[in-house]
Amino acid sequence: MATATEPRTSKPKRTLQTKLLIDGKFRDSVSGKTFETINPATEEVLAHVAEGDAADIDLAVKAARKAFDGGSWRKVDARDRGRLMNKLADLIEKNFDELAELETLDNGKPISESRNADLPLVIDCLRYYAGWADKIHGQTVPIRGNYFCYTKREPVGVAGQIIPWNFPMLMTAWKWGPALAAGCCVVLKPAEQTPLTALRMGELALEAGYPNGVVNIVPGFGETAGAALVAHPRVDKIAFTGEGRTAEIIMKNASDTLKRLTFELGGKSPNIVFADADLDAAVQGALVGIYLNQGQCCCAGSRLFVQEGVHDKFVERLASAVNGRKLGDPFDPATQQGPQVDKAQFDKIMSYIAKGREQGATCVAGGERHGDRGYFIKPTVFTNVRDDMAIARDEIFGPVLSVIKFKEIEEVIERANTTEYGLAAAVWTRDIGKAHAIADRVRAGTVWVNCYDVFDAAAPFGGFKRSGIGRELGEKGLDAYTETKTVTIAMD
Ligand code: ADP
Repeated sequence: MATATEPRTSKPKRTLQTKLLIDGKFRDSVSGKTFETINPATEEVLAHVAEGDAADIDLAVKAARKAFDGGSWRKVDARDRGRLMNKLADLIEKNFDELAELETLDNGKPISESRNADLPLVIDCLRYYAGWADKIHGQTVPIRGNYFCYTKREPVGVAGQIIPWNFPMLMTAWKWGPALAAGCCVVLKPAEQTPLTALRMGELALEAGYPNGVVNIVPGFGETAGAALVAHPRVDKIAFTGEGRTAEIIMKNASDTLKRLTFELGGKSPNIVFADADLDAAVQGALVGIYLNQGQCCCAGSRLFVQEGVHDKFVERLASAVNGRKLGDPFDPATQQGPQVDKAQFDKIMSYIAKGREQGATCVAGGERHGDRGYFIKPTVFTNVRDDMAIARDEIFGPVLSVIKFKEIEEVIERANTTEYGLAAAVWTRDIGKAHAIADRVRAGTVWVNCYDVFDAAAPFGGFKRSGIGRELGEKGLDAYTETKTVTIAMD
């Protein structure tokens, strides 16, 4: 049995920002409507947040255009763009505790994760891109004839950024970092489940000194605010993180205006354990791979391939480690797993657990709700999973691990690639040859060897196949926010 504590009713320590940020001011929505955001640990309403729709998006886009085209932002030197971003990072650091608690309150993730993962990665991402602001160079190009030819990398313009609820602050940082470093203006649409930390970051962006209109935030629903941002003719680019099905809709809706698109989507990532691996490390890696953030990670290692010879021993160790995990009050510093983000996600995950059983998999840990308040699901492990079962094929986005037995390296490579996704993969082995073979042949944007979920602002992240288009983070992440201009000058 996983140990558990009762969720505490936590109240935010300061007045929450619940309005839209447009043109440097926080304001109500044009319609005057609001929507509720819930504490997923207690199911209580945390706040009523201004609900943006097409009219608010239009105002935000106009403000962003004015700052971009009118030049107040274009006139800021590249180095000063970096300075502003470092200032924002400093302010986030200064308000570290408050932001970590707000993230945990709105999203449900354990406070230890907000403190040790989300917030440090947010600060690091902004500092990393602050360093890029004055290093986005063009080239001189030796073309034929008596010409001087050079390229410049210019900001793409106004970027619409649509983010999910699993890492609300971190996704904001991944979007703002490269966009603002490159000199774009942004209109951010946070997820309807978790708008609070993005709005607080908006307050801090103003405090840092970002000019009016450079950073706009319009909370609201996907079908209204999100869709209006995608269709808006004066938005140059959409960066979206979320579900593949939503990306399909966005791609269609963006086609009339031929917007630039980057997508970071789902996954069903293979985590492969060979018999020669350090099994203790691999067990820990399997736990991190699937249970980090309640399994609500696009790169979750949800298909755990374990080699035949060690399978039974591995499953035994894994199940005992899973049953020792601490589930409950996300504000308890010892808690390792909090609630799922909302009822819809909770219901979806529970239906996959039921399907796993129906289709003949064996549930060796968890498999049920924890408590009767909050959206808690016990960390769950299935064995005897076949590749064609729903729990082996679909992205569940919850704490549900499918353990799959394999014999040979060729076989596991083929099976690992039998998925429409290609976001991440991991391999556990002491044999460098096997590690390279997996790194070389598994079709995924990231491959971890003897580790899992190692993220760094400098390392590009994104998907093959249905897991995405383009890359975030690293130097690559700037490509999404720049246009290359070629200038050719006749020399005689
Ligand atoms: P999830 O199921 O994880 O919530 P979604 O892809 O539905 O993933 O949501 C991710 C983000 O996309 C959220 O901010 C959501 O509001 C937004 N979104 C949903 N539908 C649309 C849409 N049709 N157009 C634009 N944005 C959308």
